[in-house]
Amino acid sequence: MILVKAMNNRQLFLQHVAQTSEAPIGIEMVEAAGVTLTDVHGKTYTDFIAGFSVCNIGHSHPEVVKAVQEQAAKYMHLIVYGEFIESPQVQYASLLAGHLPNNLDCVYFTSSGAEATEGALKLAKRVTGKTKIIACNKAYHGSTQGALSVMGDEYWRNAFRPLLPEVYHFNYNDHALIDAIDGTVACVIVEPVQAESGVTVGKKEWLAAIRKKCDEHCVLLIFDEIQSGFGRTGSLFAFEQMGVVPDVLLVGKALGGGMPLGAFISSHKLMSTLTVAPVLGHITTFGGHPVSCAAGKKAFEILTEQKWIDTVSAKSELLKTLLKHPAIVQMQGIGLWFSLQFTSDALAQKVAHTCVQNGLITDWFLFAPDRIRVAPPLIITEAEIRAACAIITTSIDQVLLEHPELA
Ligand code: PLP
Repeated sequence: MILVKAMNNRQLFLQHVAQTSEAPIGIEMVEAAGVTLTDVHGKTYTDFIAGFSVCNIGHSHPEVVKAVQEQAAKYMHLIVYGEFIESPQVQYASLLAGHLPNNLDCVYFTSSGAEATEGALKLAKRVTGKTKIIACNKAYHGSTQGALSVMGDEYWRNAFRPLLPEVYHFNYNDHALIDAIDGTVACVIVEPVQAESGVTVGKKEWLAAIRKKCDEHCVLLIFDEIQSGFGRTGSLFAFEQMGVVPDVLLVGKALGGGMPLGAFISSHKLMSTLTVAPVLGHITTFGGHPVSCAAGKKAFEILTEQKWIDTVSAKSELLKTLLKHPAIVQMQGIGLWFSLQFTSDALAQKVAHTCVQNGLITDWFLFAPDRIRVAPPLIITEAEIRAACAIITTSIDQVLLEHPELA
């Protein structure tokens, strides 16, 4: 107890909060509003990654905060998932279904994206009676064991084997994946825009060919839109721009408006396989928590009714104009979601670090450490974009001045 008092919050964080990185950003924030985070010393930062694509309508939107407070005052946890009729869940599921194609009318709420992935993989087994899974290299679908099995990199998978058997990985946008789909496959899990390879946009013809082959062989097509969802790409979901509708849609991150919430969404008919033989085919205590659903629904209403998605295209063009620097060798992405590629991992890491020091939050990508991410809240203003891009370009100059060997 005496020891606890003597340590500051940073020391306590490193000692008592389990760490999974040797270099966490490690800044203590005390407030977040809109696109701005404020640390314990009063320094402000522009959140240029929206809390990893969560805060699409900005941090702590007053109406979302109000929805949380009101729902918390009515009731919080009541019972396990799917027993009582909880209005926030019912209302949010219905709202989502109204914005989705007819075959995506039934929502299973979870507490996280990884749980949505787990649920979808189980659903595919149950619906098809098959177990083989096709996934993509450089894909990230979550960190639990099923989700890890479909993660697209052996470095992260290997230490945790044995994982799910019969999972086959193929390169993104590569025809070999299509050739591998046959009658023995249960599902294909793919992101219409692959996030962690550095925002790689799926080719329309490739996704359409996957859809066709899945239909021919009774294979479920699962789209992971956990990161690409809720307006980030310039449409509510990326699949709308691809012209390909999945059998199962995975959502998370921005779904909860800043509260923990994920979901796998499919048809009522397919979902009904989880209710019999065995009954309770997928169970969760906290999935679809009423406070998370109330927050998510309010955030969704703000996003759609205030037409923030309509602003994405112009802001995207502005970013492309402003983020020009000889050290940025490639800018790849869609909507308000880009990766900036540098000549080396070391340069990208130094730039990311310097941006944070200079008041702008960015980070690298899991499978592209030579890139930094740009994914601001969709409510960001033109002036805020200009100021943020200036921080990025001056941070690059600063790094190159201090470390000429990285040029
Ligand atoms: N799928 C994608 C594309 C993601 O980016 C993530 C998280 O970053 C997940 C799944 C897992 O979501 P969660 O961290 O909520 O489990």
